[in-house]
Amino acid sequence: MAGKRLLILGGGFGGLDVARAIGRSREARGYWDTLLVDKENFFQFNPLLPAVAVGAVETRHIVYPLREMSRHRHIRFHKNKAERIDLARRCVQFHNGIEEDFDTLVIAVGSTTNHFGVPGAAEYTRPFKTIQDAMTLRARVVELFEMAEQAGSDAQRRRLLSFVIIGGGVTGVEVAAELIEMARETLLPKYPGLQPSHLSVTVIEGNQRLVPSARPEHSEYVRRFLEHRGIRLELAVRVTRVEEKRVHLGDGRTFEGFTLLWTAGVTPPPLVRDLPLSFHKDGRVLVDPYLRALDPDARALEDVYVIGDCAASPRGDGRFQPQLSQTAIAMGGHVGDALVRRAKGQPERPFDFHDKGYIISLGKHSSVLELFGVPLSGKVAWLLWAAAYLVKMVGVRKQIEVGLDHLTHVFFEHDTSQILARRAVLTADELDLPLVEPGEKHMHDS
Ligand SMILES: Cc1cc2nc3c(=O)[nH]c(=O)nc-3n(C[C@H](O)[C@H](O)[C@H](O)COP(=O)(O)OP(=O)(O)OC[C@H]3O[C@@H](n4cnc5c(N)ncnc54)[C@H](O)[C@@H]3O)c2cc1C
Repeated sequence: MAGKRLLILGGGFGGLDVARAIGRSREARGYWDTLLVDKENFFQFNPLLPAVAVGAVETRHIVYPLREMSRHRHIRFHKNKAERIDLARRCVQFHNGIEEDFDTLVIAVGSTTNHFGVPGAAEYTRPFKTIQDAMTLRARVVELFEMAEQAGSDAQRRRLLSFVIIGGGVTGVEVAAELIEMARETLLPKYPGLQPSHLSVTVIEGNQRLVPSARPEHSEYVRRFLEHRGIRLELAVRVTRVEEKRVHLGDGRTFEGFTLLWTAGVTPPPLVRDLPLSFHKDGRVLVDPYLRALDPDARALEDVYVIGDCAASPRGDGRFQPQLSQTAIAMGGHVGDALVRRAKGQPERPFDFHDKGYIISLGKHSSVLELFGVPLSGKVAWLLWAAAYLVKMVGVRKQIEVGLDHLTHVFFEHDTSQILARRAVLTADELDLPLVEPGEKHMHDS
């Protein structure tokens, strides 16, 4: 195939929009021989992952097949995992030995969980980044309710139903809100042997307030909302060490939790961090105003763009663009436009983006948001949240499916069927956990 080789690594929020921009332009399709590569064959809509984790939105409704998009946009797609980027030789090596050369590279591989070097965090906590993480959490919660119902003592029930979420940013509070809603409103009434006192959800956040990126009054709203729902909050305290089912805090206290979730931060994957480039202290690649990677001498690499969660793009006020889907979409659209302009022989324009605000969903019918500087909370905010994410879904089919999920959820409760195998959601030790001591009968708090 003729054309300059354009390799887009990652078909998430950023990479997808580069590919779509190329596909829309006849000149760009002729000029670039475009290959999009992702380790998955689907795009996943992360902002709805907490809703998937509790069954409020169906799993398949938030994913979109990349091959279908690439067929519509007349570009090539490969499902493959990049292992190493060789900038000097202009090629990318994949896990199965395949090498792809490029003339121009777009790095859009997103981020991985950042454990900040906390000992034990990677081994003993569960991440919440992928559709599999959300599915597993949902199934695990139901499985633990089944186990608790049959447990021999209240101490055992309380142990099984203790959830600790480390990180009180947007993801942490969204997961906590959805989890407590599903547990209290849908699950507890169905298990006659269980009471609210058996359940505990704790959120630990190192900052003074939850969701530090939001307005202080919204952090306060979220705090009151979660506490009112019975969630225990530990603010301004850091996790220093994690052991199996135990979290150690900087002030010397420890917390027991049968399920430990880590939602405390993200960093670019090693594939990106290992490159000979300039980096921000959080591991993101520093980029110039055109979103091109800066080498160690802060010189822009003409043909290497970095976008989305991997890019540290200065925004003029001394800070960097936030790692959000709207930023990644804007960067993807911008680089797509730049590549179309190159195909037409036109000069590139610098990236200029101001985020439109934020939305934090707190479960059924409650959200807080700031849109174009206007703050809002409660049911109207939830309606705007649902509408905003519907508009952002990829493709009419997904918009209809998610819209119907929201509508169904207004009238019906979460689906609690647990269809994953037990061994997929429990560890080997948990699978063999005796629920009743020998000779013990079911005991309940009086
Ligand atoms: C649970 C959760 C909730 C979130 N909620 C919100 C929210 O409410 N609002 C908001 O604005 N943002 C939210 N975000 C953040 C938002 O999803 C990210 O900022 C956004 O996805 C970044 O886009 P990206 O294109 O950089 O990366 P991604 O969208 O993550 O895409 C990266 C792609 O690269 C692929 N990839 C990774 N490594 C490789 C490799 N080695 N080889 C090939 N392919 C690879 C991945 O499979 C993926 O498809 C949330 C994130 C999570 C995890």
